[in-house]
Amino acid sequence: MRIMDHTDDIQAGLMAWYETNRRDLPWRRTTDPYSIWISEVILQQTRIDQGRDYYLRFTGRFPDVGSLARAGEEEVLRLWQGLGYYRRASNLLKAARIIHETFNDRFPDTWESLVTLPGIGDYTAAAILSIAFGKPYPVVDGNVVRVVARLTGLEIPADTTDGRKQIRSAAHRLMDRQQPGTFNQAIMEFGALHCKPIRPDCQHCIVQRHCSAFESGKVTELPVRNPKQEPRIRYFHYFVILLPGTTGQIVLRKRLTRDIWENLYDFPMIESRSLLTEKQLRKHPEFPESFRETVVELSEMKGIHCHMLSHQHLYVKYFLVRIPAPSKIKIPLNWIPVSPERMRDYPMPRLITRFFEKNRAMMGNKT
Ligand code: SF4
Repeated sequence: MRIMDHTDDIQAGLMAWYETNRRDLPWRRTTDPYSIWISEVILQQTRIDQGRDYYLRFTGRFPDVGSLARAGEEEVLRLWQGLGYYRRASNLLKAARIIHETFNDRFPDTWESLVTLPGIGDYTAAAILSIAFGKPYPVVDGNVVRVVARLTGLEIPADTTDGRKQIRSAAHRLMDRQQPGTFNQAIMEFGALHCKPIRPDCQHCIVQRHCSAFESGKVTELPVRNPKQEPRIRYFHYFVILLPGTTGQIVLRKRLTRDIWENLYDFPMIESRSLLTEKQLRKHPEFPESFRETVVELSEMKGIHCHMLSHQHLYVKYFLVRIPAPSKIKIPLNWIPVSPERMRDYPMPRLITRFFEKNRAMMGNKT
């Protein structure tokens, strides 16, 4: 079936479907490029229900690019806490500062200037240009890939460079050039609510008569994907260090390496190739020097915690560290003693906030 002979019909069908079925979401009530940008970045890896609250909080605190540009990174990360993929938040801040300094707070409206900003790739640039500036750039997210692959019957894996190129080109040809922003939102919403990954409602589909996958009985086979990569398995051993002679201070550490949770705070830790016992930890080459110099009490807390990220599975043990007296230990420079009432000032990954939720007494019941 040559769907490109029926683009007018498909556009009209998707636009009519959107008019009736669209969800009323806060970022759909604006064409402000800053708000569109924030919403698209939040929604990249987040469910709409969860994303809506973050969007409202974020744009409430930072209503425009200038206010975001002037913010400190820790405040931005704290607002982002719980959303994951924290590099998105750091990139938002970097890009806001560039827009503030280089473009005098005017949001760039060309492809070339947008894609040079940190964290803005093809998808986000297309969303901003089409929705905020009415320019005909097709967005290609997972929902669009699915709808286009099914409508066109494309059988090339959509997660390859060539597959994505072909999907983008088909999406571009399908696009309503008079209303590119609305069309992009219509096709994404149609994929999210109607042409779903499992059990799409083909019987009541407005574009069924133009759908190659429906005609050939390949709806469940499309889009074609490469086999999933195995997740990376990692083993973390956290030291929960309670400092004696203080008002219940606990040691945090800023994660500075290019890894998950960059610039967030967790505890000093050792990562190894398998889970270790207390005895094995003490012999580990990365066992903190300051622990060796004095006799610290190390007790393994109950349970092994499994924390799933999209491409990594973490197996985590916590070890409570008691130090005989504060003067007996040299605190390394990147260890930060934090009192329970200041704990909220530090952006942390969900794994660590969950640890505190379960161990409220350590926070003086302030979680
Ligand atoms: S007929 Fe089914 S597979 Fe084709 S576009 Fe409609 S819902 Fe999607």
